Amino acid sequence: MDSKVRVRFAPSPTGPLHIGGARSALFNWLLARKYGGKMILRMEDTDLERSSTESEQNIIESLEWLGLNWDEGINKGGDYGPYRQTERLKTYIEAAGELMSRGQAYYCYCTEEELEAERQACMARGELPRYLGRCRNLSEEERNRLEAEGRKRVVRFRVPENEKVVVEDEVRGNVVFETSGIGDYVIIKSDGIPTYNFAVVLDDALMKITHVIRGEEHLSNTPRQLLLYDALNLDPPSFAHVSLILGKDRSKMSKRHGSTSIEAYRAKGYLPEALVNFLVLLGWSPAGEEEIFSMEELINQFSLDRVAKNPAVFDADKLNWINGCYIRKSPVERIIDLAVPFLRESGLITGEVTPDIYDWLKMVVASVQEYLSCVADITDYVAMYFDDHVQMENDEAGAVLEDPDVAPVINTFRRKIAEAEELTPENTKAILKALTKELKLGGKKVYMPLRVALTGRTHGPELFYIIPILGRDRILVRLAQTMGEG
Ligand code: GLU
Repeated sequence: MDSKVRVRFAPSPTGPLHIGGARSALFNWLLARKYGGKMILRMEDTDLERSSTESEQNIIESLEWLGLNWDEGINKGGDYGPYRQTERLKTYIEAAGELMSRGQAYYCYCTEEELEAERQACMARGELPRYLGRCRNLSEEERNRLEAEGRKRVVRFRVPENEKVVVEDEVRGNVVFETSGIGDYVIIKSDGIPTYNFAVVLDDALMKITHVIRGEEHLSNTPRQLLLYDALNLDPPSFAHVSLILGKDRSKMSKRHGSTSIEAYRAKGYLPEALVNFLVLLGWSPAGEEEIFSMEELINQFSLDRVAKNPAVFDADKLNWINGCYIRKSPVERIIDLAVPFLRESGLITGEVTPDIYDWLKMVVASVQEYLSCVADITDYVAMYFDDHVQMENDEAGAVLEDPDVAPVINTFRRKIAEAEELTPENTKAILKALTKELKLGGKKVYMPLRVALTGRTHGPELFYIIPILGRDRILVRLAQTMGEG
């Protein structure tokens, strides 16, 4: 493979970009970047009723957010445009005309009712429902009569009889289909719009696509497409069909298993690199044990021969774990930017984020960054910094403060912070150390009562964060309250 690699992502803009589509886009993108090839974005908008500019926009924004850029196509242009199928209708009509002139396609006038009756009859005989060729050999006279009746017509492709079509799939090996199971299929609908199987062939061929990587659901379309390549004397690309994505219960991934759109993950505060890292593992397996990869590493390591045939299982816990890894690696400033909207939404922040508040937020976010698996969760972790009405979270916490050793700890701590010039995480560490030394108590005997007296909880961020975040005045307020001095 070399720089002639030309791959495409060809979504139908009938909804937001989903996990499965994003994975196809990613695999194509990685192949293009690995071999210095070109990535093309094409919109397959022939379903006029369901396609929308909002969906197109959502797909574009989601791809951009994931960092999956393209070299040609929508919003970019290129030598093989237009890149929206509804803008290429002439190409399809001409090609259909060519097939018709060679007898490889024909007009079909069957009505919906006739087709439905045929489907039922096939099923009643236990056969695959398919078009049985009623209009295959119409005489001119019959055609004229049907035209005169004002019937709508479609163009059907004449499927060669009793042939085998072999899909040489890069993931699945050779998959053989019999044409006897494929009825003559529609290539141009009655409104002059091509069907997916027809438009995709012409576009992939005319756009000089070398590799088509897409979801397994399109494997059964591939023999139909190969027959058209043959009829149109076009060279087919290589195909790689990536397995379905299943939920943990092994049924097809759906909303029941978690959000399916990329925008939903973005909105919850997932990081794009984390999602990319998660998506690549849905079907591709790395050679070694490592599971966290930078884009550079993925570009180097990705290959189609490590894409699995068996279904990928969507594991939300794994996504959370991966996202947590990327959150921990991120500069605190980035997490603040992502966290502020959630803090506002939950009412923890109301006014403007001034430079002072920003500095305070740095400590707040740094104190919980290592625990987050998703930025949206931050409000639960940090709510305790905002409300000075400390509640004991449970009896265990309440019991900690009943120990007679607690009062000297709290009092000495009060004195020490009163003496401190400034409370930063660094000098708080020193204060805490001095405190244990002075009281000749083990760390736990000092830290646990302080933690509970300041937060009402037995677990949480490091005390050397909590103390400077609260600051002297609020610490005194809280201690008075939890020590029953109020
Ligand atoms: N428009 C098709 C889809 O979104 C594309 C399939 C293909 O990649 O050929 O499923």
